[in-house]
Amino acid sequence: MLPRTIQVGELAKAFDRSVVDVMQALVNLGLMVTINQTVDFDTAALVAGELGIEVMLEEQPTVAEAEAEEATPAVREALWTDDDPSRLRERAPVVTVLGHVDHGKTSLLDAVRQTNITARESGGITQHIGAYQVEHKGRKVTWIDTPGHQAFTAMRARGAAVTDVAVLVVAADDGVQPQTVEAISHIRAADVPMVVALNKIDRAEADPDRVKAQLAEQGVTIEEYGGDVPLVPVSAKTKQGLDDLLDVVLLVADVRELKADPDRAAVGNVIEAHIERGRGPVATVLIRTGTLARGDLVVAGTAYGRVRAMIDDRGKTINKAEPSRPVEILGLPDVPEAGDVVRAVPDEKTAKAAVEEEQRRRAEGVAGERPATLDEMFAQAKEGKAKELKIVLKADVQGSLEAIRGSLAKLPQEEVGLNVIHAAVGDITESDITLAAASNAVIIGFNNKLDAPAKRVADQMQVDVRLYKVIYELLDEVQKALVGMLEPVMVEQVLGHAEVRQTFTSGKTTIAGCMVVDGLVRRGAQARLLRGGAPVYDGRIGTLKRFKDDAREVAAGLECGLTLEGHNDVATGDVVEAYAVQAKARG
Ligand code: GDP
Repeated sequence: MLPRTIQVGELAKAFDRSVVDVMQALVNLGLMVTINQTVDFDTAALVAGELGIEVMLEEQPTVAEAEAEEATPAVREALWTDDDPSRLRERAPVVTVLGHVDHGKTSLLDAVRQTNITARESGGITQHIGAYQVEHKGRKVTWIDTPGHQAFTAMRARGAAVTDVAVLVVAADDGVQPQTVEAISHIRAADVPMVVALNKIDRAEADPDRVKAQLAEQGVTIEEYGGDVPLVPVSAKTKQGLDDLLDVVLLVADVRELKADPDRAAVGNVIEAHIERGRGPVATVLIRTGTLARGDLVVAGTAYGRVRAMIDDRGKTINKAEPSRPVEILGLPDVPEAGDVVRAVPDEKTAKAAVEEEQRRRAEGVAGERPATLDEMFAQAKEGKAKELKIVLKADVQGSLEAIRGSLAKLPQEEVGLNVIHAAVGDITESDITLAAASNAVIIGFNNKLDAPAKRVADQMQVDVRLYKVIYELLDEVQKALVGMLEPVMVEQVLGHAEVRQTFTSGKTTIAGCMVVDGLVRRGAQARLLRGGAPVYDGRIGTLKRFKDDAREVAAGLECGLTLEGHNDVATGDVVEAYAVQAKARG
């Protein structure tokens, strides 16, 4: 049994063969991959064939289950609790466009929109509401109007994995560029199927073969080269290839069997929101499941209100919005945030409870939901929970990046696998942080720094960023993470203070008659003896008594008698400071 995609290292394990055997089989198939790269089931099956092993595709979770897995608990609950399988209907795929700057993302979005408006709508005025829907051969496709991986991953980090198909725009005359590489990592981390739109094919300088080879270098193997990524040559300028692109997007969507229940209460995500004079808060919502109707009571993030009006991407007022339909809604008391869940509720009581629940969840912080730091990963590795340590790796120069990548791949990965989800040269940027946040990855920087906006976002999203200047230290810490043994920081916590008021002797032992002045003292607790404020002893509290009885703890305001283990030099006026030392995850 194999999953839909698997890392080469894992594949070797699954086959009980050496990595070398598997790599050799891949080479025989004409594929050059590294141990950390992921291959799809079809490729794995071919490798199995080479090795004379039989394999089967593991039972796949439904799309709903997979999305629920990705979503935060709140989204999960809202989205999928009462979907009745018998009522599920096909829904339009939601597409996001990504790629390097100036490769034509915006132009492509505009061209797709212009060429696919239905006759009925052609009189309408184009409204940029954050997403739009087009019709192609009688089927609908929803396009998110904000291109780029920052927006894509920021939504995902907030639990709103709305994209079904990612269109990677690569200019045929410019080829794979840094942001193309970034976009590929972001798409992969989201585990969303990819379609390459080879744009600007009209230009004389267009060199499709060069781009295809560059994509292969990034591990994106297009169908023509035996891979599973469709590539469609297009021109946003001449509109050439746009029909093919839509055909392919729908084909890819069909494989995912995208479904939703139009007959239930609506659940959607905020795509964008702002306040408008005369209209109040305006939010564009993409309906995920159910149908939203005018007049519905909705909870959006930490506010609720009645949908006063709904306007579609043509500026038309509508009364109902079905799954995958983007609509602007009016009537919310507040401006929600992009990614917030919007859901219809039956009454105010439910609305109030949902808002309170959401406020509580936010107050507790997002961190509770994710094991985002290296230390939490260590802890999970120890408990055998974490199977994979995801890393976003940034280094100063290509040379060190390759060296670190190579060394990381050689680290033993028996207990926990290592997955470098993105590796690139340069400082750590905001987009790296959102990628890490959305993917539960840690960020490792070598000889570089966090830029100021990235630092702010890292603090906000509580992403673990580790900067190194020495490769050895970097490898050492990651290795420790992999075996779950990074030493935690020992943090001291003072339990309380007791003033020595009198001393007694019993045999050779000095008993200190004390008054607990703050906190508490505990039998067996670590303790210091302070004389004139300076420690003269550091050990443990031996016996502890209240009057004649043994006591476990004595709290402030009470008298007690205590002894210090192995120490009899105690005098009136000394202070006993009881403390505890706790192992705390390093932050
Ligand atoms: P974005 O930064 O990826 O959104 O790129 P834009 O859509 O803003 O396009 C960048 C530039 O490329 C603009 O000057 C466009 O007119 C031009 N452009 C976009 N698509 C094409 C195309 O298919 N052919 C040609 N010749 N130019 C294009």
